[in-house]
Amino acid sequence: MGLLTIGAFARAARLSAKTLRRYDEQGLLRPVQVDPFTGYRYYDPAQLEHARLVAWLRRIGMPLARIRSVCALHKADPDAAARDIRAYWARVEAETAARRDLADFLVDRLSDAAARKDRPMRRLGTPLGLRYAALSDRGLVRDTNQDSVYAGPRLLAVADGYGGGGAQAGGAAIDALRPLESASAESGDLLNLLADAVQLAHRAVRRLPDSGTTLTALLWTGSRLGLVHIGDTRAYLLRDGRIFRITHDHTVVQAMIDDGGLTEDEARSHPQRAMLLKALDGADSPAEPDLHLHDAEAGDRYLLCSDGLFTVVPESELRRVAANVADPEQAVRELVVLANEAGGPDNVGCVVADVVEL
Ligand code: MG
Repeated sequence: MGLLTIGAFARAARLSAKTLRRYDEQGLLRPVQVDPFTGYRYYDPAQLEHARLVAWLRRIGMPLARIRSVCALHKADPDAAARDIRAYWARVEAETAARRDLADFLVDRLSDAAARKDRPMRRLGTPLGLRYAALSDRGLVRDTNQDSVYAGPRLLAVADGYGGGGAQAGGAAIDALRPLESASAESGDLLNLLADAVQLAHRAVRRLPDSGTTLTALLWTGSRLGLVHIGDTRAYLLRDGRIFRITHDHTVVQAMIDDGGLTEDEARSHPQRAMLLKALDGADSPAEPDLHLHDAEAGDRYLLCSDGLFTVVPESELRRVAANVADPEQAVRELVVLANEAGGPDNVGCVVADVVEL
């Protein structure tokens, strides 16, 4: 069969000529021939499958650049193209799920009457403070405890050290943050203070050969919390009975989850689950930490923990303990018990802190 005019090709592909012109402009599907005088486009019937593939990928909302790469893969290795589409869709679903959770959260926040009528209204100007507890445990398998924890009136921190000097590395990172307990900071300075403290922590950890640490910490100003995070220790927020993870693991498996190549369930048993993409270690310059500000509300509860807890205790259990055990001291004890009942394969460190009216 000879070449088809754009009109004939459009009918055969069930697309409009306008769409085909757009695909041409976007580099998604080039006509095999363009008349140099009239500008008419001609297509090869063999391009029909390509045209349909582009149209379907557009319909699932795939971005143009990714469509180009899927089409290129499709020619060379259809299986690889199929895997890429699957990975893309898994990511869409993960993002949709995250957006759905956030939407649920916002609906609850904004439709306040029914959902929040039981919560006492805070008197305007009532000062807030933290009620806190921290606990770390060797677990049942490791010889030493390389998790470090700290909780004070303004600072909450968890560090999971590794390597020969892992325990010192985690301790040194937290020690570098400790002066923040007495530093006076308005919200505007908060993140800079934390960033500077991480530089100091890096300097301290660098002196320890073949060692490193994660660090997740919150600094309280009286109404807001500054969060600094590097590695795979985590911070969760419990608000209105729901639990939200507010840190993003800097790990190989989290990157694979983000890319749609792995599910959260698969990640838990993945052999490389402990491999960090970022940590405080001997590198010449410190890895960039994540820094965020959080507005606190009376009744909020924060949970900071190392992977020795969340790898073996499901999030639903973390939520159950965090929601039901009022006393922070008792809550950290129960969380450590849960990790050890699940085999205690790693050190466990956790901090629980409540935002309370003073
Ligand atoms: Mg650990």
